[in-house]
Amino acid sequence: MSKRLRLAMQKSGRLSDRSRDLLARAGIGIEWRSGQLHCRAHAFPLDVMLVRDDDIPQYVADGICDLGIVGSNMIAERLDARGQAGKVVTLRTLEFGRCRLSIAVPSSAGIKDISALAGKRIATSYPDSLRQYLLAQKVSADIVEISGSVEVAPTMGVADAICDLVSSGATLSANHLVEIAVVYSSEAVLVRTAKPLDDEILSGIDRLTARLSGVVRAEQAKYIMMNAPATAVDAIRRVIPGLEEPTVIPLYGDKQRVAIHAVAPEPIFWETMEGLKQAGATSILVVPIEKIIE
Ligand code: ATP
Ligand code: ZN
Repeated sequence: MSKRLRLAMQKSGRLSDRSRDLLARAGIGIEWRSGQLHCRAHAFPLDVMLVRDDDIPQYVADGICDLGIVGSNMIAERLDARGQAGKVVTLRTLEFGRCRLSIAVPSSAGIKDISALAGKRIATSYPDSLRQYLLAQKVSADIVEISGSVEVAPTMGVADAICDLVSSGATLSANHLVEIAVVYSSEAVLVRTAKPLDDEILSGIDRLTARLSGVVRAEQAKYIMMNAPATAVDAIRRVIPGLEEPTVIPLYGDKQRVAIHAVAPEPIFWETMEGLKQAGATSILVVPIEKIIE
């Protein structure tokens, strides 16, 4: 019987739906039973452990799990900022769970710069990342560690500033807070333990990573088709970032114009479509790609 990979993922929270979805789209079927912490994949030698995101870095560092899907902010906090950076290896970023660990102050405080936080109290659930940042910035402030609802700390008089995860900034503005510094930019990552692994597990990791990469890349990429004057092909290649070798096909009954087909490695925005039109393209179609394997 083949050895099974052990993957740690967030049980429930902001990363859990996207993590499950990623496995499903990589063709790894798992029956998620509510309340169960350990789930087995069908048709792939993988067992998933569902845990709190805070515990994932250590499980992977200790080799209790071979792999983890977690926010890179959590790796930074639990391992990097504690001198254990080499204990896990990031295999790839997963293009979801983007956020930033930011320092914010009450808008009424009129503080624009972190140097004004010297001697003040900053509330956070990420004390080690904040400590490291303040040290690098040569600002000496008190770190008040709290585990949830950090954004209310200034109103409650617990702190003068906060250091918390932000994505849209809506929670900050609802609490009359303004961001003054970014400590860390984060997104979900696939990590593996740095502990030595046997060949069978390593080849399972390669297979899983290739599948997840295929899903992530396909999600980013688009297939684009258009017609254009034959003389405009170079101008069109310049409009689409990363578009290197488009397929150029003659159009039946029209010697001046060609059809251009290509995989664009990045999402195509309306501005890019407008740029293509200006370069002479017509009938521009952008379609999603389901899977890519190279
Ligand atoms: P757990 O119960 O697993 O400890 P949690 O409440 O600590 O959950 P979540 O709020 O679910 O954690 O966040 C998990 C991760 O989601 C964060 O560590 C971060 O990587 C990512 N994330 C993305 N956007 C945000 C955001 N706006 N606020 C907080 N976390 C975010
Ligand atoms: Zn957590």
